[in-house]
Amino acid sequence: MLLNGTRRTLSGMVLVLVVALLPLTGRAISVSTRFRSPRNPERKVRRSTELIVLHTTEAPARSSLNKLSDRGEAHFCVTEIGSIYQIVDRDREAFHAGRSMWQGREDVDKFSIGIECVGYHDKPMPQIQLLAIRDLVKELKRMYRIPDERVLCHSHVAYGSPNKWQRRRHRGRKRCGMLFAMPTVRRILELYAKPAFDADTRAGRLAVGDDYLRRVLYGGVDTMIGKYGNPAPAPAEHPVIAARAPPPPKPKPSAADGKKTASSATPVTIAQLQAKGFTVRGTVTKTVTASRIAGARWNSADTYYTIRGKVIPGTAVDAAHMETGMRVWMKK
Ligand SMILES: [Zn+2]
Repeated sequence: MLLNGTRRTLSGMVLVLVVALLPLTGRAISVSTRFRSPRNPERKVRRSTELIVLHTTEAPARSSLNKLSDRGEAHFCVTEIGSIYQIVDRDREAFHAGRSMWQGREDVDKFSIGIECVGYHDKPMPQIQLLAIRDLVKELKRMYRIPDERVLCHSHVAYGSPNKWQRRRHRGRKRCGMLFAMPTVRRILELYAKPAFDADTRAGRLAVGDDYLRRVLYGGVDTMIGKYGNPAPAPAEHPVIAARAPPPPKPKPSAADGKKTASSATPVTIAQLQAKGFTVRGTVTKTVTASRIAGARWNSADTYYTIRGKVIPGTAVDAAHMETGMRVWMKK
């Protein structure tokens, strides 16, 4: 039950008041406080912030937001259309990690920020949602000086008590957020390092309770390969930490590789698009699709989309999650 009486719904959510997330940055991340938790005043201010923990809600947005808000179970929630909601104030403790351990320390809520992402641990998320997660994570990393390898999945830190299937305390109680360990997804999130092993199972504090999950988190299993088109290579200024993580697989050659599309030259603002000679070719609507505007090049590296001030390369969009209002940019 909600404390404030009326049930909040997603209807009309496009009209919600948005507030600037981080006043110091002046960046274009906007966050709604519509689902701010009534639990905020009772939550302690966190002493340290060492990890960012990514979750999957395993439920649709509406029920997820209501539940998260009622219980104060995350700092942020990112929906499948890339809207960001603040649930618990970012410097307070949110109850998101449950029974958890990381490198011998329990109760991960005490030193982490939790982001719930509407979706499922083993299903691809819309590109627009991943890009919103990327922007939010990037900002939090900068604010709290958190390196890539400390942006984790809930399943990295959750553990289970002994039960009739597992005689010991074990990693593998849940697969929450598992896809965020996969190289394909991390590349979109611009995270170029991840933990190479589980210090708690290695030290014998926990047993491995789910070998498939272990292989996803540490063994390079990646069920998202091919789900997001041709991935951009990691930029040189963010080298993969070779000693800690395997190098990302080489992108498959495609027709687009014939042309030079160096990532360093990728436009990231509308002004840069214009400076490079791109012009608007049309706007996506319910009846006008991207491929109708851009033809076969709708998802190529030399086509760009803009919405809410964001520039999205054609290689990073997928047909199922196009938004009305996206502008299509191409060169003559
Ligand atoms: Zn979780």
